[in-house]
Amino acid sequence: MALFGSLPRIAIIGAGIIGLSAAYELAVRRGARVSIFDTRPPGRGASWAAAGMLAPAFEAADEPGQHTRLFELCLHGAAIWPDFAEDLSARSGIDIGFSRAPCLAVALGANEAIRLGRISARLGGARIEHAALTPDEVLRREPAISPGVLSGLELPSDLRVNNRQVVDALIAALRTHPKVKFVSDRAPLRAVGSQLRLEGHDIILAAAGWETAIIKVEEQGQLFSLVNWETALDDIDCYGGQMLSVADGAGAPKRVVRSGHVYLVPREGRIVIGATVEPDRVMDEPEEAAIEALRLEAIRICPGLADAPVLERWAGVRPGTPDQAPFIGETSTPGLFVAAGHFRNGILLAPMTARIVADQILGKDAGDLAGAFSVRRTYAATA
Ligand SMILES: Cc1cc2nc3c(=O)[nH]c(=O)nc-3n(C[C@H](O)[C@H](O)[C@H](O)COP(=O)(O)OP(=O)(O)OC[C@H]3O[C@@H](n4cnc5c(N)ncnc54)[C@H](O)[C@@H]3O)c2cc1C
Repeated sequence: MALFGSLPRIAIIGAGIIGLSAAYELAVRRGARVSIFDTRPPGRGASWAAAGMLAPAFEAADEPGQHTRLFELCLHGAAIWPDFAEDLSARSGIDIGFSRAPCLAVALGANEAIRLGRISARLGGARIEHAALTPDEVLRREPAISPGVLSGLELPSDLRVNNRQVVDALIAALRTHPKVKFVSDRAPLRAVGSQLRLEGHDIILAAAGWETAIIKVEEQGQLFSLVNWETALDDIDCYGGQMLSVADGAGAPKRVVRSGHVYLVPREGRIVIGATVEPDRVMDEPEEAAIEALRLEAIRICPGLADAPVLERWAGVRPGTPDQAPFIGETSTPGLFVAAGHFRNGILLAPMTARIVADQILGKDAGDLAGAFSVRRTYAATA
């Protein structure tokens, strides 16, 4: 990257948790001047829709085609959250709901039992605290779970945060900071030869979630998509996700419960139930049929939820890459960086991503793990 006599002036495109955390790291913690562009109100994209679980263990399942170092990145991401949470709460004055969230993953079918066994073996290898449980042990810990449970995995060190309060805390801390400017508009990017320019800025960080490839660039009076300056961005796809919450009460779980793709999170007097994963779908509003399917699946896991009133339904769009891992770092266009494609782990990975891009933008060695998430990587082969 280019060397700057003083700190570079950075334009961040996209004010989701990824862009906001990068701005926080660069401006508040490292003193750089930052402008944050968003065409919509900040913090109301996928980062608003998420469940706020900081749960690296599930990446240990090592699904076919998954980035081979994603689990490692998620572990590092979880490890720096306590410090980030303390710092952000102190600077913003907002309680972000950061806490431990001991989780029980349970198997109600044979395939899920095999998957839990695989996760358990990998966690053992990585020396992550966990315990494999028999059905009786599961039910003793969480009587709300279906008596048909086959096995369980206890993950006492998972964390959680209120993601909506996190983005509000980031916005609050950034809005009052003298080196930060919010711009409620498209960033006026221009192409000059093979270079990109944004007046008043030295570096551009593209962090617009699933829309990162279609950020607009003006060239000779016409608008083109940013993907023309980094073709790898075309690999960022959209994955719709729907969720609901129901009232807490008798029959509801007291701790986070997961089974297959469904999770139940007790939070502030309600049980948050998530989430669908719908490839190639962009959705602002939830759909009745999908929400009902999710609710029925939650009742299969915790039958006592059958009569719990539904309190809220919502939807969001995850940005995903072919290996389910983010793109972080400089692109093939000098001065253009990217932080996007965090799929189901954007809340977990926000502080880690911010640290990596800040190191790279400011010319520091971000380490070997960071390099593995470059846009120029080749994807893991699918089985
Ligand atoms: C239902 C659901 C549940 C989830 N649960 C979890 C969870 O429990 N834990 C976890 O770690 N992750 C979870 N995730 C994933 C996580 O929410 C995402 O990975 C993360 O929010 C992505 O953050 P982002 O900043 O990249 O995108 P976003 O939050 O979508 O932000 C992108 C921003 O870019 C802006 N933008 C778009 N185009 C432009 C443009 N041209 N110019 C300027 N601005 C632009 C948008 O308006 C938006 O504000 C979940 C996601 C969903 C949908």
